[in-house]
Amino acid sequence: MFCGVGSSVVPDTYRDDLIKLHRKIINDMKLKGPDYRWSMNDFQIGAPLGRGKFGRVYLAREKNTHYMVAIKLLIKSELLKHGMQHQVIREIEIQTHLSHPHILPLLTYFQDDKRIYLVLEFASGGELFKQLQNQHNQRFSEATSAKFIDQVADAIDYCHKNKVIHRDIKPENLLLTATGDIMLADFGWSVHAPCSKRKTMCGTVDYLPPEMIENRAYNEKVDYWCVGVLCYELIVGKPPFETNSQNLTFERIKKVDVKYPSFMSALAKDLISKLLKYNPSDRLTMTEVRQHPWILSTKTKS
Ligand code: ATP
Ligand code: MG
Repeated sequence: MFCGVGSSVVPDTYRDDLIKLHRKIINDMKLKGPDYRWSMNDFQIGAPLGRGKFGRVYLAREKNTHYMVAIKLLIKSELLKHGMQHQVIREIEIQTHLSHPHILPLLTYFQDDKRIYLVLEFASGGELFKQLQNQHNQRFSEATSAKFIDQVADAIDYCHKNKVIHRDIKPENLLLTATGDIMLADFGWSVHAPCSKRKTMCGTVDYLPPEMIENRAYNEKVDYWCVGVLCYELIVGKPPFETNSQNLTFERIKKVDVKYPSFMSALAKDLISKLLKYNPSDRLTMTEVRQHPWILSTKTKS
């Protein structure tokens, strides 16, 4: 049973045990020492878990510990063709240095002639996006949404304190543990702050902030905008600026043209409208998000 959505379902002791188990396994894997040369011989490959732009992700089992992991397999020729090799090195560097309860750990990595293998903690709850789609009306309750936003804000705050901007926060890149807690994943677009480069636009444009669309210099506050978009999508079931044309979506983003449905609470509206600010410095910080009455009131209820 998926026991994640709705924090009250999972007893705290179970969650603590799981965290302890994760730590133990990470330590066990590290027992091989930093100089151990991992290879595919150390793993049994299982079912495919997902597909990314440059490779696939498979479930795998470490032969020694029997620990289940996810292996993201990147094809070098594809990376080179798209000039993405530096971005992957950055993804590895960034993700090995981050350690936080809501950030997907990169356990180790290795390569052969053709491929790079990233060994990631297995997020058995799958994508938040899929859970959202499986909900009644394709949306979460405000209490559940608040729990997720609190955890995402916690992870982003930690990234920013470590001078990392994620830049690709969206439900597809948020994975869930067995206990239904958030794991921020996919640091493929992340950068060390500050950054004045324009992100190559691909995939969904719904989460792009105005400063990126307008090709202006940007900072870590791009992630704050995305938290606003995410909060809206979790509660409403679709992102706030969605249209069937990319250009129209861009126009709506630049005008911050948001319409709030009547079922949304005043507190949720207040939080989202304080994140979806055209001017990045007007946006609430992650600490302010975590102290917002919408988050605090749902915490006291659960
Ligand atoms: P893209 O940039 O196109 O989003 P990507 O190449 O960066 O893709 P990821 O987003 O990291 O790849 O992974 C692709 C998909 O594989 C995820 O959306 C998810 O469904 C699945 N997946 C990735 N890592 C894990 C994991 N650790 N546990 C479970 N599933 C995972
Ligand atoms: Mg992804």
